[in-house]
Amino acid sequence: MTLNIGVIAGDGIGPEVVREAKKVLDASAAKNGFEINYTEIWMGGCSIDKFGEPLTDEAIALAKASDAVLMGSIGGNTATSPWYRLPPEKRPEAGLLKIRKALNLFANLRPSLLYDELKAACPLRAETAEKGFDFIIMRELTGGLYFGERSTKEVDGVMTAVDTLTYNENEIRRAAVKAFEIARKRRKKVTSVDKANVLDSSRLWRKVVMEVAEDYPGVELEHMLVDNCAMQIVKDPAQFDVVLTENMFGDILSDEAAEITGSIGMLSSASLNDTKFGLYEPSGGSAPDIAGKNIANPIATILSAAMMLRFTFDLDEAADQIENAVKQVLKEGFRTGDIMSEGCKKVNTDEMGSLIAERL
Ligand code: NAD
Repeated sequence: MTLNIGVIAGDGIGPEVVREAKKVLDASAAKNGFEINYTEIWMGGCSIDKFGEPLTDEAIALAKASDAVLMGSIGGNTATSPWYRLPPEKRPEAGLLKIRKALNLFANLRPSLLYDELKAACPLRAETAEKGFDFIIMRELTGGLYFGERSTKEVDGVMTAVDTLTYNENEIRRAAVKAFEIARKRRKKVTSVDKANVLDSSRLWRKVVMEVAEDYPGVELEHMLVDNCAMQIVKDPAQFDVVLTENMFGDILSDEAAEITGSIGMLSSASLNDTKFGLYEPSGGSAPDIAGKNIANPIATILSAAMMLRFTFDLDEAADQIENAVKQVLKEGFRTGDIMSEGCKKVNTDEMGSLIAERL
């Protein structure tokens, strides 16, 4: 089996953390007997410097020809970098929006996992942190309020702004199918989050999710109103497995879910379309303040590579091995600067990558 992986190293710490994720993937390939064919893809500030634009048509074609794309991060210091003196459509982040659109990435996955060893960084009550949590937020990414028609105009002498929240049943169905497929690989529970006591779009959301659930009898479905969900995430996050929700609710809840882990440098993410293709990247940005110093935490990118093995290639065992190796390294007390605590051993970016690769 050969995995065709497009690699966007990107800007800032991107090339440093991607190098470590590739090191771990290569070790996994050697252990599990698969091959990897990497294709370099330019995107972001580095592509602006080289080609004059953040994402070329050739780069899109290379991404489309890959089974999956592993990405570091893109962008620079928004106050000082010359990239941010360009018009918005020429800036690094325009490349990200363009690739999401070109690849039809409609579902965004963000895990929220509290590691035993990092419980002290969790801002929740001690007894809640003690129980631990491990859930994923699956957010619809290309519909809803952020993509609806909008206007600001004077109505009867009063300035009035309108945003519209639109979903059709097909958009809801494909997101729900993804959530159930993912739950099937986990603890088999989907919590669908909506505001069905008020919104028509939520009532349709709930109806379609219930229809999809019929095809997954092994997966438990529950519905939860978004305001309650925001509360439950801080009160009892252990109850969740896969949280499925629309674009804006997911935007807000996924930041809340990231924050309660206390360690954003550890969080992976994936954006998926209706094939097995995915774009896998750390949740954080390009961290220009620490770029080039070999001190960035590569774990979020390494865990993104594990997600890729699980969701694009169905190599669940290989993904488990990487996740367990990360836990093992933390257990042994190795830390990069961002998650350092007393009594632990501080390591740099490439040492952390090697430690994880060695423990597969
Ligand atoms: P950031 O996430 O890059 O950095 C915020 C803070 O977290 C910084 O102090 C940084 O040093 C630290 N940090 C982030 N990742 C880390 C890691 N792996 N290890 C250790 N420390 C880490 O956010 P920002 O400063 O707001 O943005 C910087 C640039 O990144 C901007 O150009 C922004 O547009 C871009 N960005 C890109 C993406 C992406 O590529 N998907 C996402 C978010 C931001």
